Amino acid sequence: MGLLLLWAFFSIFPFCITSTLETEPPLELSRLTRELLESARKPEFFEWLVRARRKLHENPELSFEEFETSQFIRTELVSLGINFTWPVAKTGIVASVGSGGHPWFALRADMDALPIQEMVEWEHKSKNDGKMHACGHDVHVTMLLGAAKLLHQRRNELKGTVKLVFQPGEEGRGGAYYMVKEGAVEEVKGIFGLHVAQDMTVGVIGSRPGPFTACSGRFLATIQGIGGRQATDSLLAMSSAIISLQHIISRETDPLDSRVISVGFVKGGEAGNVIIPETVTFGGTFRSIALEGLYNLKQRIQEVIKLQSAVHQCRATVDFMEEKARFYPPIINDQSLYNHVKKVGQHLLGGPSNVLHLPNTMGAEDFSFYSQHIPAAFFMIGAKNITMDSGIPLHSPYLVLDEQVLPLGAALHAAVAISYLDQHHHVPNN
Ligand SMILES: [Zn+2]
Ligand SMILES: [Zn+2]
Repeated sequence: MGLLLLWAFFSIFPFCITSTLETEPPLELSRLTRELLESARKPEFFEWLVRARRKLHENPELSFEEFETSQFIRTELVSLGINFTWPVAKTGIVASVGSGGHPWFALRADMDALPIQEMVEWEHKSKNDGKMHACGHDVHVTMLLGAAKLLHQRRNELKGTVKLVFQPGEEGRGGAYYMVKEGAVEEVKGIFGLHVAQDMTVGVIGSRPGPFTACSGRFLATIQGIGGRQATDSLLAMSSAIISLQHIISRETDPLDSRVISVGFVKGGEAGNVIIPETVTFGGTFRSIALEGLYNLKQRIQEVIKLQSAVHQCRATVDFMEEKARFYPPIINDQSLYNHVKKVGQHLLGGPSNVLHLPNTMGAEDFSFYSQHIPAAFFMIGAKNITMDSGIPLHSPYLVLDEQVLPLGAALHAAVAISYLDQHHHVPNN
């Protein structure tokens, strides 16, 4: 059967008898990265990047509501002369640069912001009350637009096609899952993504091969008691449940097997001198390095909340919202793609010391859905400037990022894609 297929393949596509270029002279990579970085750092290019980033920063939109963000990206792509498919997963865009032929390589940016009120006082502060680009996705979109421009300038030299994936809903909504489901990375050979790191200085990137981020899930608990004076106390049941959830981590988990349960909000009651509320709700996130651990946590969270509620004669339901907020698997960096990015990064950033080998993180990222599907590499890129007020954690209302990261990220995206195509395109055997 296999041989028959092979014969059929070559009789239909005789021109596909190929060899793959595996190596390239290091000098080529040095020249490529230098030229890309020079282009991205030209004053008018840099100013364009900064303008785009600030416009995006002023107008943050939440997951799957990135309508104006998506429109802004499409307008920029049209003005660059780049074709794209839209909508993919509601607001997502997949643009194409290059020959149209294979191989296809993808670069990804996420577009959504967070429900956070920006507290940084600056000229380009968020104009949308209660929303902020506090995870740097404005920077991610800008870096990918920068890469689009750099790639388009070299479109006739590309030995294949680069797919630019602008995805919605990274923040807990699994936008990447829907992009994959709607075919955004169909036939794509590899994908690369960047995330800003507020604790690494500009000019440094980092990652690790294999498992990189944690798996994560969310839960929403509702505890029902009897309100009023003859009450069963839903608030007390909630307090006991929250404390007992922490015992799952401290008493049941192997300390070498990292897991986290965090309650992020509680809601219930109106006034201190009135009556005990009938219903209270609370919710949060839980994480584990491996999926097995995540499912174990899911089961124990459910048991602990229900049983602690029963102790207080209350009833509880726990919703894991798997339809709306999918469990995130871990990002698994493909070893060979990781090596490729590392090599390109070392050339671009001027040496091995600027590409860090990072430990596993308990952070979660839906880039993992691509990594389940195709070879993927995800790197952090430093955006900290010690002379600015940066270094404040992601998801903080005080987050400040150094815009000098923009040309670096744009050039790195482009260099990774161009050199990947150079090494993986098929050369006819004459
Ligand atoms: Zn985030
Ligand atoms: Zn993020």
